[in-house]
Amino acid sequence: MSKTPFVTKEQLDEITKLYPTPFHLYDEKGIRENVKALKKAFSWNPGYKEYFAVKATPNPFLIDILREYGCGCDCSSYTELMLSEAIGATGADIMFSSNDTPAEEFIYADKLGAIINLDDFTHIDFLEKTIGHIPETISCRYNPGGLFKISNDIMDNPGDAKYGMTTEQLSEAFKVLKEKGAKEFGIHAFLASNTVTNEYYPLLAKILFKQAVKLQKETGVHIRFINLSGGIGIPYKPDQEPNDIYAIGEGVRQVYEEVLVPAGMGDVEIYTELGRYMTGPYGCLVTTAIHEKHTHKEYIGVDACAVNLMRPAMYGAYHHITVMGKENLPCDHKYDVTGSLCENNDKFAIDRMLPKIDKGDYLVIHDTGAHGFAMGYNYNGKLKSAEILLKEDGSAKLIRRAETPSDYFATFDCFEIGKKLIKK
Ligand SMILES: *Cc1c(COP(=O)(O)O)cnc(C)c1O
Repeated sequence: MSKTPFVTKEQLDEITKLYPTPFHLYDEKGIRENVKALKKAFSWNPGYKEYFAVKATPNPFLIDILREYGCGCDCSSYTELMLSEAIGATGADIMFSSNDTPAEEFIYADKLGAIINLDDFTHIDFLEKTIGHIPETISCRYNPGGLFKISNDIMDNPGDAKYGMTTEQLSEAFKVLKEKGAKEFGIHAFLASNTVTNEYYPLLAKILFKQAVKLQKETGVHIRFINLSGGIGIPYKPDQEPNDIYAIGEGVRQVYEEVLVPAGMGDVEIYTELGRYMTGPYGCLVTTAIHEKHTHKEYIGVDACAVNLMRPAMYGAYHHITVMGKENLPCDHKYDVTGSLCENNDKFAIDRMLPKIDKGDYLVIHDTGAHGFAMGYNYNGKLKSAEILLKEDGSAKLIRRAETPSDYFATFDCFEIGKKLIKK
């Protein structure tokens, strides 16, 4: 089983003339085709809107592409709000789904007219005290607790998650918010992550739709939207069956017809806050093999490290690797593919069967388009890589330059590179 990169070795030879590895490369064509399919899958719902989860890939050039298809921004921090404002996404184009929210973030979100999605019952008071009023449109995050199961599979453990309000709190929150002047309500829940099954969204929708009908009856509020949030996953492993977005959209439609329409709630708008599904497969980390080491195991050292892609080190996540130009050679060498951090978990692959790798080979690490670059950090003083967009015409555009040592030292106001440290 294999995965085919969206870039060829010849294209990489051209790109690396201008931009050295490592870098994250994104596939404009793939991103466009995917967002078009998503919109089509939910076109049965006239109010449908995707709020791209900015944290997944906070690059304004990439989000601008999604904006062309009417996507808004799902933000949960001050700088994510800044990024959205900078690309012209304000007002109802922002869903502010934060938690443990600092006051200044509520103030900024309110200033931008964002839809605020409250994570907790106590945030009603906090928000009112902070911004001086309750917005007319407001959303609450729901956490039914327990385990989230599909058939006999445990998908995730909401009862153990810090997010959202209990059933009782949600109902109380709607009553209180209504008294305080809120007019339009939304319900949001995120109960399982990276689901590679067409059943997740319909099952989540059923829980939320039933809850919405109950809340409408109990509290008399107008529920304008239901936000299914993120969680649609991608097949990181080559033998995984990808999600069928049309089956997912159709599954949600059926539950909508079954639960909401008979309750007279056929005007509810469906929102999503997908991140991984929108960009994950349309990004890869391109790195070069720079060392080989033969000790108790066979190691290939590359010029990227966990700073550029943390998921394998952090979760033991699988990312498929293609050795460019050797796609048709037998995978008869067992390697650990490592980065240079002084951390033994800095490995992109462990005991991976790959073709024989020579120094200078490009390795394409697949599916890094979401929660890849974005999770980067600066351990060991390592710098974050560039991000490059492979455009539809095959040309490459630098959409974020690589960090330089000046970026690393910029937060010491007293430090000038090449000079002595001047303590103030
Ligand atoms: C992370 C996150 C998302 C996106 O999750 P994906 O798994 O990338 O789809 C959406 N909404 C909220 C509130 C999140 O925290």
